[in-house]
Amino acid sequence: MKKLWHILGFGALLAMTLLTLSGCGQSVAKQDVLARDEQSKQITWGVKSDTRLFGLENIRTGKLEGFEIDLARAMTKKILGPNGKCVFVPVTSGTRVPLLKNGNIDAIMATMTITPERQKQVDFTHSYFDAGQSLLVKKGSPIKNIGDLNHPDKIVLGVSGSNSVKNVAKDAPKARVLQLSDYAQAMTALKSKQGDALTTDNGILYGMAAENPGYEVVGGNFTKEPYGIAVNKNQARFRNKLNWALQEVEKDGTYNRLLLKWFGNVKGFNYQEMKR
Ligand code: GLU
Repeated sequence: MKKLWHILGFGALLAMTLLTLSGCGQSVAKQDVLARDEQSKQITWGVKSDTRLFGLENIRTGKLEGFEIDLARAMTKKILGPNGKCVFVPVTSGTRVPLLKNGNIDAIMATMTITPERQKQVDFTHSYFDAGQSLLVKKGSPIKNIGDLNHPDKIVLGVSGSNSVKNVAKDAPKARVLQLSDYAQAMTALKSKQGDALTTDNGILYGMAAENPGYEVVGGNFTKEPYGIAVNKNQARFRNKLNWALQEVEKDGTYNRLLLKWFGNVKGFNYQEMKR
């Protein structure tokens, strides 16, 4: 009898394990993210932690700060009510899509441009920030625009997984591109003269220039980089809700207040043009 119970117990355990495993396999593709978040009263956002003005870890407090962090907080409250919580998971340009696809995060709000190529993998909300790609150089550098980098002698620094490194291949095809794993490392590489310029979106570069007064943003915007919030495919309810929340924060003035808070005093950045 004891033996029978052992066999039954083992069978039940095995069935539960298999169920859990198959549940995990299905979970990312099949689960309704909005329903789960409404129940748990929290949204897990993938955000930058190395990008001043958008998402940066304050090393004194350990907290993340930036326009996207505040926007995610405001949108979470719209969707889940005043007690709704944000869980922030730091991502880089290279890790954000894999983390979303694996179900580690519910949504990406991390300076991510809406591109047709990415739309094959993920779905985007409408754009919440209109950036454009530019260059950061040491003050006094002979590099004044992207054309000046179009030479095999020139090294452009960027971050892997970013759209910016792909754009260099189009706009300065002769330049060599050195890809770092995040923007903190790319800035360190620029400072140690491993490249002639660092390229990414203007807003991100203004954040770096503010911290590093010996460096300046040059060359204007040579691309259009509309940022969208990315969610997994087949999560139309969640994406629609995010679009609705975005509209709500635009309508009630929160969006413009956050724009002023983060970009109002950024030299060279015309935040008035970005108002909604
Ligand atoms: N917006 C560009 C992109 O989505 C560059 C910024 C980033 O690396 O996140 O790739």
